[in-house]
Amino acid sequence: MSKALVCVNCGKEFKVGAWYNCEGNPTRKHVVESKTYYSDSDRFQVNAVPQTSMIGNQGERINIPGMIVTFMNGTYATTDPELQEVLDRRAPMSKDVWMEKRLTPELRTGRDRAIISQQQALIDELKAKNAELQANKAAEPDEVMAGAKGKSKIARN
Ligand SMILES: [Zn+2]
Repeated sequence: MSKALVCVNCGKEFKVGAWYNCEGNPTRKHVVESKTYYSDSDRFQVNAVPQTSMIGNQGERINIPGMIVTFMNGTYATTDPELQEVLDRRAPMSKDVWMEKRLTPELRTGRDRAIISQQQALIDELKAKNAELQANKAAEPDEVMAGAKGKSKIARN
């Protein structure tokens, strides 16, 4: 994963791991487009960033608190590229899978039933159309025959 990231705050490209130094500030993190993550558990927690410290411009020690991500109702959105990097690995569930899993059995049954009844309605509709066509054909056989005779006459000439 050496894909270049672009900060939406300062507009600069930065590499994975080089989260800081936004606008030349060593304690300021770059920012990226918001991304939403999904989890089976409503309040899924990820100890995303361990507490650490770094040396500032004047040689001073700067403590950087760790970050624990807590999902809300199974989702978490962040513009923090460092969290995104962690969550891409720790919470890789796609929204589709998540939504499928979050459907309760009752909801799922209801949805499937709705799909089936939709399909049944379509089939009934087609059957009705077919029956209508058959009825129309049956109702005007003379006209069809006459047309065919007329045509064959023209063809013979
Ligand atoms: Zn930046």
